[in-house]
Amino acid sequence: MTQLQPKSFRDRLGMIDEKGERIEIIPARPKGIWAKRRTLVHSFLIALFLVLPWIKIKGSPAVLLDIPNRHFSILGFEFWAHDAPMIFFVLGIATLSLALVTAVYGRVWCGWACPQTVFLDGVFRRIEEWVEGNHLKRRELNAAPMSLSKFIKKSLKWSLFVLFTLIITHSFLAYFVGPERVFQMVTHSPKENWENFVFVMVLSGIFLFDLAWFREQFCVIMCPYGRFQSVLYDRYTITVQYDESRGEPRKGVPLAQGQKNGDCVNCGRCVQVCPTGIDIRNGIQMECIACTACIDACDEIMEKLSKPKGLIRYMPSVQGAQFKLWRPRVMAYLFVLLAIVTGLFVVLINRPKLHLQVLRAIDVPYFEKVENNTHYIVNSYRLHVKNQTPSSQKLKITFVNHDEALKKGWKLQIPEHILEFKAGDFKMIPFLIEIPRHDIPTHGSLSLEIKVNELTKSLNFLGPKKHEY
Ligand code: SF4
Ligand code: SF4
Repeated sequence: MTQLQPKSFRDRLGMIDEKGERIEIIPARPKGIWAKRRTLVHSFLIALFLVLPWIKIKGSPAVLLDIPNRHFSILGFEFWAHDAPMIFFVLGIATLSLALVTAVYGRVWCGWACPQTVFLDGVFRRIEEWVEGNHLKRRELNAAPMSLSKFIKKSLKWSLFVLFTLIITHSFLAYFVGPERVFQMVTHSPKENWENFVFVMVLSGIFLFDLAWFREQFCVIMCPYGRFQSVLYDRYTITVQYDESRGEPRKGVPLAQGQKNGDCVNCGRCVQVCPTGIDIRNGIQMECIACTACIDACDEIMEKLSKPKGLIRYMPSVQGAQFKLWRPRVMAYLFVLLAIVTGLFVVLINRPKLHLQVLRAIDVPYFEKVENNTHYIVNSYRLHVKNQTPSSQKLKITFVNHDEALKKGWKLQIPEHILEFKAGDFKMIPFLIEIPRHDIPTHGSLSLEIKVNELTKSLNFLGPKKHEY
């Protein structure tokens, strides 16, 4: 059995020095299959983020979160303020999906899809590398005294940071106001849209601070998901790990008699590439964002040494455990997730095209009129209608059993000209119902139903009690 050697555990974070001050992490960029895969995924996600507001589905942006008008357009579905309870389904699906993915693949979200990682690694660090060079040149430049060349490089880098931050924040704004409106705003004076201007500037300041300076500290110190993700793990959760049984005793540590070195040559390359500055050989750590950089870095070394790759690789969190996908935790998350998705699906399918509400007019409960020697009781109502579809609709409002009601002399008086509804229109339609007095029951109240297109609405009709005639 391999005897493990004592490792260099630290009682502080990799990005903090003995005095408690920040060590600026300038990671090397590894080359390898995982780096290529991550570049592809990050490029796809950045492109998706930028183009999503511009894509139209059924005439509306693929994603529009119009908070002032309480209108949300998502992948061709239109939602309004009264659909707010659906947010619980959406939050439930997001939470359970994250829990499920974490239970199976650990912090795959952090390394592959979190906007912090995607923009930091996919945009900001690349700008830095393009302007200042690789990690060694960047360290050299930082340590060098100010010179014309350093000033030009730093100015160019920060100008590009600001430019890309503005692109990100304006694209973000497009999710809330639509891309056409963003275009109109940037081509006009900020005074005409000062609220949005202030919003974008504040957001740009926060993004610039985070992506250009704060960086990995956000993942290590602030991210709430980073804090609780470990409780979602079990022994089979797939994580990026160093294979101790193969790597130890690493090169450079004292060996017992007859003991041979493991495959780790203690080159430190896995630490050089780590964006959070940790040593993966110290085991699973909260700071690890599962970015896979150390896998590529170590594979490069193993290849040079003609040793098998995979000294650092994805493996179950308890080393030696065999991966098992179907286990109680995963099945429980999947079951609840499917239940919530089904619930959302059912709600969406049964969602009416119109949202209706009938209210009685707030003046007198009823009044009387005489027409062709017939005494009519008249009730006044207001119909609140919201067209929840992305297309225009014309309303048809009738009694249920309309022909029968007309034969009895009942009347529904509605102003025809306001029955046309554009997508998303909300209107209050006043209408009158007139019923001959002899049809009113002795207790003075009648329940009846009207039909608005395919929907039925009940309402209460009031008239005089018999002794009040
Ligand atoms: S330990 Fe490896 S996987 Fe984890 S953050 Fe560092 S480089 Fe990425
Ligand atoms: S890169 Fe591989 S060989 Fe080098 S120190 Fe890290 S684990 Fe050891």
